[in-house]
Amino acid sequence: MGYTALYRKFRPTTFAELVGQEHITRTLKNQIMANRVGHAYLFNGGRGTGKTSSAKILARAINCLNPKDGEPCNECEICKAALNGSLTDIVEMDAASNNSVEDVRAIREEVNFLPTKAKYRVYIIDEVHMLSVGAFNALLKTLEEPPEHVKFILATTEPQKLPATILSRCQRFDFKRISNEDIVKRLKIVCDESNIEATESALLMIAVLAEGAMRDALSILERCIQDGDNKIDEDKIKDLVGIPKFDFVNRIMQAITSYSVENAIEITNEIINQGKDLENFLWEMIKYTKDVLVFKTSKKIELYNDEEKEQIKAMAQNVGKERLVELIYQLSELQNSLKWATR
Ligand SMILES: [Zn+2]
Repeated sequence: MGYTALYRKFRPTTFAELVGQEHITRTLKNQIMANRVGHAYLFNGGRGTGKTSSAKILARAINCLNPKDGEPCNECEICKAALNGSLTDIVEMDAASNNSVEDVRAIREEVNFLPTKAKYRVYIIDEVHMLSVGAFNALLKTLEEPPEHVKFILATTEPQKLPATILSRCQRFDFKRISNEDIVKRLKIVCDESNIEATESALLMIAVLAEGAMRDALSILERCIQDGDNKIDEDKIKDLVGIPKFDFVNRIMQAITSYSVENAIEITNEIINQGKDLENFLWEMIKYTKDVLVFKTSKKIELYNDEEKEQIKAMAQNVGKERLVELIYQLSELQNSLKWATR
């Protein structure tokens, strides 16, 4: 069997498997069960939050021959054909590459024909904000008088770029950033089923790096096992994404807070010589300082192992709040000027 990327292999095939969007899946399932599915939906949300997966599940659920509690069975003839991509009644279109009037006109002509196998012909249009003005107008005509057997699911990361006329004809669902907790939960399942051994703190680090996008979390997990070693800990992830190890950050912050210029320069040179990315390093320094400040004010501390926690506590004891705030400010300024510096 060929190799399948983790995010493809673990793409959710039911609403129940979809992570972190219960407010949406509940409503959709209720609509399906009550046979009150709308004719046009707008799925809005950041990348990797499950918009396209939900669109595919919805398209199957309304066409499934044996739907159960609003979920597709994924086993009937229609579901199977949809899953292997051979069902021509479910049409997926990427508006980023098919954004012309002609592309949408083709849909307008097609919608007049009955579906070939399924009950509904479903158009899933990804990145719909990329359509041209002409294409939007053509789409609007279809949305205004949709034939009974046609459903539209539009997905976008930038709803503000859509004409109000389109927005007003769609039921809108806003997909949330997936919480770190939910990402970790899903990663654990993926690890179990793929024989990957990862520490809890490593999974949390992946979740933080993924910034609410399940797909990104799975890509990072995937990169972690590409060396053929199925064991993952924090250091492995840090090496992989070029995050300096805690020890480095801790040492340079100690040097800075004790005004030891020589040490600070020495550590900086070490980092440059190791080929670490300076922007990443700065980002870590800011995060470290923020975490020290948070600990100082609320005694909360996350994402660190026991030894590291002790270091953070010691730093919090030795440095005043004002100094920490000032440091965050200065480091952020530096980060900004680095961004605009010529490289
Ligand atoms: Zn089915």
